[in-house]
Amino acid sequence: MQKGKINVQTENIFPIIKKFLYSDHEIFLRELISNAVDATQKLKTLASTGNFKDELGDLTIKVEVDKKKGTLKVIDRGIGMTADEVDKFINQIAFSSAEEFVKKFKTKTEAEQNAIIGHFGLGFYSAFMVSDKVEIITKTYKKGGPTKAVKWSCDGSPEYTMEETVKKDRGTEVILYISKEDKEFLEDYKIRELLKKYCRFLPVPIQFGTKKEQVKVEGEKDKDGKDKYIEVEKPDIINNTNPLWKQKPSELKDEDYKNFYRELYPMNFEDPLFHIHLNVDYPFNLTGILYFPKVKRNFEVQRDKIQLYANQVFVTDSVEGIVPDFLTLLHGVLDSPDIPLNVSRSYLQSDRRVKQISNHIMKKVADKLEELFKENREDFEKKWDDIKVFIEYGMISEEKFYERAVKFCLLKNVDGKYFTLDEYKEKIKETQQDKDKKLVYLYSNDMDEQHSYIEVAKEKGYDVLLMDGVLDNHFINHLEQKLENTAFVRVDADTIENLIKKDDTETPSKLDDKQKEAIKPLFEEMVDKTKFTVEFKNMSENDLPVMITRPEFMRRMKDMSALGGSGMMGMDNLPDSFNLVVNTNHKLIYKMATEENEEERKKTAKQLTDLAMLSQNLLKGEALTGFIKRSVELL
Ligand code: ADP
Repeated sequence: MQKGKINVQTENIFPIIKKFLYSDHEIFLRELISNAVDATQKLKTLASTGNFKDELGDLTIKVEVDKKKGTLKVIDRGIGMTADEVDKFINQIAFSSAEEFVKKFKTKTEAEQNAIIGHFGLGFYSAFMVSDKVEIITKTYKKGGPTKAVKWSCDGSPEYTMEETVKKDRGTEVILYISKEDKEFLEDYKIRELLKKYCRFLPVPIQFGTKKEQVKVEGEKDKDGKDKYIEVEKPDIINNTNPLWKQKPSELKDEDYKNFYRELYPMNFEDPLFHIHLNVDYPFNLTGILYFPKVKRNFEVQRDKIQLYANQVFVTDSVEGIVPDFLTLLHGVLDSPDIPLNVSRSYLQSDRRVKQISNHIMKKVADKLEELFKENREDFEKKWDDIKVFIEYGMISEEKFYERAVKFCLLKNVDGKYFTLDEYKEKIKETQQDKDKKLVYLYSNDMDEQHSYIEVAKEKGYDVLLMDGVLDNHFINHLEQKLENTAFVRVDADTIENLIKKDDTETPSKLDDKQKEAIKPLFEEMVDKTKFTVEFKNMSENDLPVMITRPEFMRRMKDMSALGGSGMMGMDNLPDSFNLVVNTNHKLIYKMATEENEEERKKTAKQLTDLAMLSQNLLKGEALTGFIKRSVELL
């Protein structure tokens, strides 16, 4: 028997492994299984290149728990190790890299530790996070020379032992003697949960326990003449070794992608809208499938669902910094051995390769959207309401995406028709300009509340867009910066009257200035002067006698401060402000201006003001009760 001491230079790292890495003990299983997978893949490669000529046989990796003995085993039939290799790979290399890791880890802040721990494999030595003792029993695939099986054992003190042993089969068995504090890793459910999390798509089958399965007995019938089934115990293979993203897109059907989505998110009952299959090998290696989910109003809960894999090993489901922010709303998987995992997040975000990957993903997403738009516009329009939040978010936050998305970004009007930005510009070019020849895009953000304004605008021959999405306020601001000579104006804004009329002539006023001056105070009395400004407009006699509009500028300031974007002091409590617009050309106003009886004039002013208020849902409480009473009396 050979005895040795692993660490010559430094303090004993085992207590440190246990103590410092406490938060993420569970990754030990991923590390050990990754090693087993590597060893198996290496053997497969040797076989395919003719360097290994024996039967490969069943290569399933087995995970076994023995609660009585307190052991957890990971068993593979991979290349195994000779005694020399154990010495080299476990005693020297693996140890020094574990030591290196611990050293680095100790100097980090807690936040940084958390960021690297899941990513940076401690390797084989992570087994000591959960074990009092670890044994390796291994036999190399090699023939000739010193090829006897080896047993390595280490109890968490720096001493290890190595001795020859007997092992029938090639491959490696790692036996963990689970420590008292980590007893949970002897529970079936816990191990199954971890295997599901980290090993779900590993390329080599992994067996944990058995499961019962109904198997048809050929050529036999039961007493009712139906096919006969018997129950058999079968190895429970917990992983899908050939996940969809590794397969050829040309050989897959839409249904396959939907099924895979269900496999990824069993709790998500809604089918995705569509998917993008990524497959790149130059200048970096990246595969994956991204899904556009149906967005809910509260899309934060759907965020961070993309899973990141490195060669089919689960790494993380927090892809912040790796994909552009707006794409974190997507679902799916990304797999790349080229994403550096052993580094901190801030490094990740500044890494050139990560940026390239990120740009590429964005480009692919834009390509796919453009393709969908071009191939079947009708279908694209059907999906628009669901995907618009991604696209708007992308256009606002990523200039490169904006440049691509202008081609397929749609605007929807209140009649449910869709237009590209170019098409819409063309549509309103002639009819919706203000006096400075600026194009005016009218929009509503609440069709019910702004119904009367929408009707008025439509009657005038204007088109009104529906901008009621969660991001539309931001998006409008963004478009105004991007589109030249264009203003977005809400349909209840006071500036609508500034639009050039189609016939281009101003209606003359029926009231003269003196008459206006005389009735102005009557209206001013009816409203809260801190909020309302009374003004006269020469509208058509078919327009309402009194209307309420909102000063566009003030409303925007208020919206902006609500979004937290104003950055201006004292903007948080902006009052609502309104215009009470009196139509100088309406019969009732004319009648009022020429009425002698002061009481009658007041009554009319009151009733008309209240009506305007009512249409804007501004008449409440006592004022509303009074209005109803007066209306009844009038009738
Ligand atoms: P890494 O896997 O990152 O190289 P580890 O500490 O996990 O580091 O493992 C060190 C080395 O030990 C491996 O590179 C491999 O050569 C060897 N090894 C570990 N586990 C096995 C195994 N199951 N079968 C064969 N060799 C193994």
